[in-house]
Amino acid sequence: MPKRSSPAARNDLLRAASRLNKLGINQGTSGNVSLRAGDGFLITPSALRYDDMQPADLVMLAPDGTPQGRRRPSSEWRIHRDIYAAQPDVQAIVHAHPPQATALACLRREIPAFHYMIAVAGGDSIRCAPYALYGTQQLSDGALTALEGRTACLLANHGILVLGADLDAALDLAVEVEALATQYLGALQVGEPALLSAEEMAAVLESFSEYRLLS
Ligand code: 13P
Ligand code: ZN
Repeated sequence: MPKRSSPAARNDLLRAASRLNKLGINQGTSGNVSLRAGDGFLITPSALRYDDMQPADLVMLAPDGTPQGRRRPSSEWRIHRDIYAAQPDVQAIVHAHPPQATALACLRREIPAFHYMIAVAGGDSIRCAPYALYGTQQLSDGALTALEGRTACLLANHGILVLGADLDAALDLAVEVEALATQYLGALQVGEPALLSAEEMAAVLESFSEYRLLS
Protein backbone atom coordinates (compact mmCIF):
# COMPACT_ATOMS: atom_id res chain seq x y z
CA MET A 1 0.00 0.00 0.00
CA PRO A 2 1.57 3.37 -0.99
CA LYS A 3 2.33 5.90 1.76
CA ARG A 4 0.07 8.95 2.15
CA SER A 5 1.25 12.30 0.78
CA SER A 6 1.15 15.62 2.64
CA PRO A 7 -1.75 18.09 2.19
CA ALA A 8 0.83 20.71 1.08
CA ALA A 9 2.04 18.44 -1.73
CA ARG A 10 -1.55 17.93 -2.90
CA ASN A 11 -2.22 21.67 -2.93
CA ASP A 12 1.02 22.38 -4.82
CA LEU A 13 0.12 19.79 -7.43
CA LEU A 14 -3.43 21.14 -7.88
CA ARG A 15 -2.11 24.69 -8.27
CA ALA A 16 0.47 23.59 -10.85
CA ALA A 17 -2.12 21.65 -12.84
CA SER A 18 -4.56 24.55 -13.04
CA ARG A 19 -1.71 27.02 -13.87
CA LEU A 20 -0.90 24.92 -16.95
CA ASN A 21 -4.31 25.68 -18.44
CA LYS A 22 -4.20 29.35 -17.43
CA LEU A 23 -0.82 29.68 -19.16
CA GLY A 24 -2.33 28.25 -22.35
CA ILE A 25 0.06 25.30 -22.20
CA ASN A 26 -2.78 22.87 -21.90
CA GLN A 27 -6.54 22.76 -22.33
CA GLY A 28 -9.54 20.79 -21.16
CA THR A 29 -8.67 17.56 -19.40
CA SER A 30 -5.60 16.94 -21.57
CA GLY A 31 -2.23 16.49 -19.92
CA ASN A 32 -1.25 15.35 -16.45
CA VAL A 33 1.11 16.43 -13.68
CA SER A 34 2.91 14.50 -10.95
CA LEU A 35 5.13 15.11 -7.96
CA ARG A 36 7.50 12.64 -6.32
CA ALA A 37 6.29 11.82 -2.80
CA GLY A 38 8.38 9.52 -0.61
CA ASP A 39 9.19 6.38 -2.57
CA GLY A 40 6.13 6.84 -4.80
CA PHE A 41 4.45 9.77 -6.51
CA LEU A 42 1.27 11.82 -6.52
CA ILE A 43 -0.48 12.24 -9.88
CA THR A 44 -3.55 13.97 -11.31
CA PRO A 45 -6.56 11.71 -11.92
CA SER A 46 -7.72 10.67 -15.38
CA ALA A 47 -10.24 12.74 -17.36
CA LEU A 48 -11.14 15.27 -14.67
CA ARG A 49 -11.19 19.05 -15.30
CA TYR A 50 -8.32 20.71 -13.40
CA ASP A 51 -10.53 23.46 -12.01
CA ASP A 52 -12.92 20.88 -10.56
CA MET A 53 -10.18 18.84 -8.90
CA GLN A 54 -10.06 18.55 -5.13
CA PRO A 55 -6.98 17.49 -3.12
CA ALA A 56 -8.60 14.08 -2.48
CA ASP A 57 -8.96 13.51 -6.25
CA LEU A 58 -5.18 13.24 -6.65
CA VAL A 59 -3.93 9.67 -6.72
CA MET A 60 -0.93 8.36 -4.80
CA LEU A 61 0.98 5.64 -6.62
CA ALA A 62 3.53 3.23 -5.17
CA PRO A 63 6.80 2.78 -7.12
CA ASP A 64 5.29 -0.28 -8.84
CA GLY A 65 2.20 1.71 -9.88
CA THR A 66 -0.24 0.44 -7.22
CA PRO A 67 -2.77 3.28 -6.74
CA GLN A 68 -4.35 4.66 -3.59
CA GLY A 69 -7.27 7.07 -3.87
CA ARG A 70 -10.89 7.46 -4.95
CA ARG A 71 -10.05 8.25 -8.59
CA ARG A 72 -8.38 6.43 -11.46
CA PRO A 73 -4.80 7.71 -11.94
CA SER A 74 -3.88 9.53 -15.16
CA SER A 75 -3.79 7.16 -18.11
CA GLU A 76 -0.10 8.17 -18.52
CA TRP A 77 0.92 6.88 -15.06
CA ARG A 78 3.37 4.43 -16.66
CA ILE A 79 5.43 7.29 -18.16
CA HIS A 80 5.56 9.04 -14.77
CA ARG A 81 6.46 5.80 -12.95
CA ASP A 82 9.20 4.91 -15.42
CA ILE A 83 10.81 8.38 -15.34
CA TYR A 84 10.87 8.53 -11.53
CA ALA A 85 12.45 5.07 -11.45
CA ALA A 86 15.09 5.96 -14.05
CA GLN A 87 15.96 9.51 -12.94
CA PRO A 88 16.41 10.04 -9.18
CA ASP A 89 16.90 13.83 -9.57
CA VAL A 90 13.48 14.34 -11.16
CA GLN A 91 10.91 15.54 -8.61
CA ALA A 92 8.08 16.70 -10.90
CA ILE A 93 6.76 15.78 -14.36
CA VAL A 94 4.41 17.66 -16.66
CA HIS A 95 2.72 16.18 -19.72
CA ALA A 96 0.70 18.65 -21.83
CA HIS A 97 -0.72 19.31 -25.29
CA PRO A 98 0.45 22.91 -25.96
CA PRO A 99 -0.66 24.20 -29.39
CA GLN A 100 2.66 25.04 -31.06
CA ALA A 101 4.79 22.21 -29.68
CA THR A 102 2.00 19.76 -30.49
CA ALA A 103 1.84 21.11 -34.06
CA LEU A 104 5.55 20.29 -34.43
CA ALA A 105 5.01 16.90 -32.82
CA CYS A 106 2.33 16.22 -35.47
CA LEU A 107 4.97 16.87 -38.12
CA ARG A 108 7.15 14.39 -36.18
CA ARG A 109 9.94 16.97 -36.23
CA GLU A 110 12.35 17.42 -33.39
CA ILE A 111 13.34 20.97 -32.39
CA PRO A 112 16.96 21.35 -33.51
CA ALA A 113 19.57 23.89 -32.35
CA PHE A 114 17.94 26.80 -34.17
CA HIS A 115 18.20 28.92 -30.98
CA TYR A 116 20.71 28.69 -28.15
CA MET A 117 17.90 28.33 -25.57
CA ILE A 118 17.35 24.78 -26.80
CA ALA A 119 20.06 24.00 -24.20
CA VAL A 120 17.48 24.61 -21.48
CA ALA A 121 16.34 20.99 -22.04
CA GLY A 122 19.89 19.68 -21.52
CA GLY A 123 21.22 19.13 -25.05
CA ASP A 124 21.39 20.37 -28.63
CA SER A 125 17.88 19.27 -29.62
CA ILE A 126 14.49 18.46 -28.18
CA ARG A 127 13.75 15.04 -29.65
CA CYS A 128 10.40 13.73 -30.79
CA ALA A 129 9.44 10.27 -29.46
CA PRO A 130 7.73 7.90 -31.95
CA TYR A 131 3.94 7.71 -32.01
CA ALA A 132 2.27 5.14 -29.77
CA LEU A 133 -1.26 4.98 -28.35
CA TYR A 134 -1.70 7.20 -25.26
CA GLY A 135 -1.43 5.40 -21.95
CA THR A 136 0.64 2.50 -23.31
CA GLN A 137 3.94 1.04 -22.16
CA GLN A 138 5.13 1.50 -25.75
CA LEU A 139 4.61 5.26 -25.45
CA SER A 140 6.52 5.30 -22.16
CA ASP A 141 9.41 3.29 -23.64
CA GLY A 142 9.72 5.66 -26.62
CA ALA A 143 9.52 8.72 -24.35
CA LEU A 144 12.28 7.46 -22.05
CA THR A 145 14.58 6.92 -25.04
CA ALA A 146 13.81 10.42 -26.39
CA LEU A 147 14.54 11.86 -22.94
CA GLU A 148 18.04 10.39 -22.66
CA GLY A 149 20.26 13.27 -21.51
CA ARG A 150 17.31 15.67 -21.79
CA THR A 151 14.64 17.16 -19.55
CA ALA A 152 12.03 17.57 -22.32
CA CYS A 153 10.78 15.80 -25.44
CA LEU A 154 7.93 15.94 -27.91
CA LEU A 155 5.57 12.98 -28.34
CA ALA A 156 4.63 12.39 -31.98
CA ASN A 157 1.02 13.34 -32.83
CA HIS A 158 0.40 13.99 -29.16
CA GLY A 159 2.20 16.66 -27.05
CA ILE A 160 5.17 17.25 -24.77
CA LEU A 161 6.78 15.84 -21.68
CA VAL A 162 8.97 17.90 -19.33
CA LEU A 163 10.88 17.03 -16.17
CA GLY A 164 11.86 19.29 -13.29
CA ALA A 165 13.70 19.44 -9.97
CA ASP A 166 10.39 20.81 -8.65
CA LEU A 167 6.94 21.75 -9.98
CA ASP A 168 7.89 25.36 -10.79
CA ALA A 169 10.93 24.22 -12.76
CA ALA A 170 8.81 21.74 -14.75
CA LEU A 171 6.17 24.41 -15.49
CA ASP A 172 8.82 26.96 -16.50
CA LEU A 173 10.34 24.41 -18.85
CA ALA A 174 6.96 23.62 -20.40
CA VAL A 175 6.51 27.34 -21.10
CA GLU A 176 10.01 27.51 -22.60
CA VAL A 177 9.45 24.47 -24.85
CA GLU A 178 6.22 26.03 -26.15
CA ALA A 179 8.06 29.34 -26.79
CA LEU A 180 10.83 27.52 -28.68
CA ALA A 181 8.27 25.60 -30.75
CA THR A 182 6.49 28.87 -31.58
CA GLN A 183 9.75 30.52 -32.66
CA TYR A 184 10.84 27.49 -34.69
CA LEU A 185 7.48 27.22 -36.47
CA GLY A 186 7.67 30.98 -37.15
CA ALA A 187 11.11 30.67 -38.72
CA LEU A 188 9.95 27.67 -40.79
CA GLN A 189 7.28 29.89 -42.39
CA VAL A 190 10.06 31.73 -44.22
CA GLY A 191 12.63 29.00 -44.75
CA GLU A 192 14.94 26.56 -43.00
CA PRO A 193 16.47 28.34 -40.01
CA ALA A 194 20.27 28.40 -39.66
CA LEU A 195 21.33 25.89 -37.01
CA LEU A 196 24.02 26.39 -34.39
CA SER A 197 27.02 24.07 -34.80
CA ALA A 198 27.98 21.34 -32.32
CA GLU A 199 30.82 23.60 -31.07
CA GLU A 200 28.49 26.55 -30.62
CA MET A 201 26.00 24.43 -28.69
CA ALA A 202 28.78 22.88 -26.57
CA ALA A 203 29.77 26.42 -25.51
CA VAL A 204 26.16 27.23 -24.58
CA LEU A 205 25.77 24.00 -22.61
CA GLU A 206 29.01 24.67 -20.72
CA SER A 207 27.93 28.20 -19.93
CA PHE A 208 24.49 26.96 -18.78
CA SER A 209 26.04 24.46 -16.37
CA GLU A 210 28.06 27.28 -14.71
CA TYR A 211 25.01 29.54 -14.70
CA ARG A 212 22.95 26.87 -12.98
CA LEU A 213 25.64 26.23 -10.36
CA LEU A 214 25.43 29.90 -9.39
CA SER A 215 21.63 29.99 -9.15
P1 13P B 1 -5.46 11.67 -18.46
O1 13P B 1 -6.68 12.57 -18.26
O2 13P B 1 -5.79 10.21 -18.27
O3 13P B 1 -4.29 12.15 -17.65
O4 13P B 1 -5.07 11.76 -20.00
C1 13P B 1 -4.76 12.96 -20.62
C2 13P B 1 -3.69 12.78 -21.63
O5 13P B 1 -3.13 13.77 -22.05
C3 13P B 1 -3.34 11.43 -22.14
O6 13P B 1 -2.20 11.46 -22.91
ZN1 ZN C 1 -1.65 13.43 -23.58
